[in-house]
Amino acid sequence: MKGALGFCFLMVVVASAGCVSQTAPSPAWSNWAEREGGVAQGPECARASTALARLGDPGWITKLRFLHVRVLNTNCPCAYAWPDGSLFVTKGLLLLLDDDELTGALAHEIGHLAEDSPRFKSAAFSGSGGTKCEVYADAAGCELLKSAGLAPDFLARALIKVRNDPRTPASLRVALSQRIQIIQGGEAFPEQTVWHAPRIR
Ligand SMILES: [Zn+2]
Repeated sequence: MKGALGFCFLMVVVASAGCVSQTAPSPAWSNWAEREGGVAQGPECARASTALARLGDPGWITKLRFLHVRVLNTNCPCAYAWPDGSLFVTKGLLLLLDDDELTGALAHEIGHLAEDSPRFKSAAFSGSGGTKCEVYADAAGCELLKSAGLAPDFLARALIKVRNDPRTPASLRVALSQRIQIIQGGEAFPEQTVWHAPRIR
């Protein structure tokens, strides 16, 4: 997806950028968010925050103390995770998904931030990070959902809606179908992508 690829490129750039300002630095994602339609205000934000809160404290999986979700003012049905714990869902995704599916999508994004996930930790919900990276995030996301007493099917249903949406490129649909099958079919996650949960102390 065009926006998702732009996002990946940006991540490489900002990761090496130093801070030279004496004022509080802008978040690494601020320019990117502007280009993605800007951060929206309004009732959608409360809905996204509620969906995130259902996952409880995801710190056991990410080692991040604070996760925050914001809404991007764009119709592309996407979600993103930044290494600082900033999560983004688009207005298009909010329109597409119900509340359960939205929580599933956020669990997947948090899965990208799992502490032992691949080095390139951020990718779009629709799968710009490569299938292996996405399946890995699915595995962590399903663990997170289960730990919160929620169904992994929340994520599978979200992926089905994204796959079936006409805005999703045909080239992504096969990979999305494979991921859905793994989650819904109870199939084991491929060996190289199995996410090993850290001990909960
Ligand atoms: Zn992803």
